[in-house]
Amino acid sequence: QAKASGDRYLFYTRQMTASVASKLSLENQLRHALDHGQFVLHYQPKVNLVSGKITSVEALIRWNDPHTGLMLPDQFIPVLEETGLINEVGRWALHQAAQDYLRWLGNGLAAVRVAVNVSPLQLRHRGFITEIAQVVAGDPRLAAGLELEITESLIMADVRHSILSLQAVRAMGVSIAIDDFGTGFSSLSYLARLPLDALKIDRSFVIDMTTSQQGLSLVATIINLAHSLKLTVVAEGVESEEQLRLLRLLGCDEMQGYLFSRALPSEEFETKFLAADAGG
Ligand code: C2E
Ligand code: CA
Ligand code: CA
Ligand code: CA
Repeated sequence: QAKASGDRYLFYTRQMTASVASKLSLENQLRHALDHGQFVLHYQPKVNLVSGKITSVEALIRWNDPHTGLMLPDQFIPVLEETGLINEVGRWALHQAAQDYLRWLGNGLAAVRVAVNVSPLQLRHRGFITEIAQVVAGDPRLAAGLELEITESLIMADVRHSILSLQAVRAMGVSIAIDDFGTGFSSLSYLARLPLDALKIDRSFVIDMTTSQQGLSLVATIINLAHSLKLTVVAEGVESEEQLRLLRLLGCDEMQGYLFSRALPSEEFETKFLAADAGG
């Protein structure tokens, strides 16, 4: 009896050790990835539903691992957050997006913005506001050009601090979008107090919109709520003409999704959308 529970104990310990070890090695790999330029940003446009023009371009990180190939953020962002490496990787993404953006402007891109995703940990990090200030100070066009996307759940986790940080960032001219809206538990009074410019409706609502009347009225309600707060509404993950038609009908301002374009490598984005843009 005693032996059996002893074995079990040993078994659990070994398992835990294995999982700690694999996390450690992933952490090392991610550190290595950052130091060796293996992270890349892909870019997905947001489009105005009335003019059909690109308004903003979202930077989405990928890890180009020489052994595994291109990995999506869901596979490594959680580990970056657990290890605190997200602060450094987030800083890298911010600077890289700013650099790509300035190059596009130099190559004739019209006045659009570049949107960067910000992790909860970054927003809470002491140096965050200084970091944004430094990026913006690097080129005057970045003040109006930069947009930060922050998930609803994280803003709400620490509302008072979020309001102060976001106010400081917004005072520099940078825009703020609340990301994945509808998946968290925002209270309406907080939502009204947050210094926001845009609200992104989570893809799950866009999917439900075409399958049930309830789903449709939920999206209508979110759009009306956002408009009453003077926010630009962006629908995420738009894949079909039917979704697009309904979003137009409901007065949604902008859309983002595979229907218009997937996230593309910087050069591909440039050849596909800059050339078209420069042509008129
Ligand atoms: P998100 O910010 O909600 O980004 C939207 C995700 O939906 C992206 O996935 C995008 O490629 C995908 N998507 C866009 N249009 C469609 C569509 O029509 N259909 C479908 N099925 N998917 C679509 P991705 O690139 O895998 O990013 C996943 C999440 O990782 C992002 O969700 C964001 O929360 C996070 N993330 C990405 N880049 C960064 C970053 O630089 N920093 C931080 N902290 N998080 C990031
Ligand atoms: Ca986002
Ligand atoms: Ca989102
Ligand atoms: Ca999402």
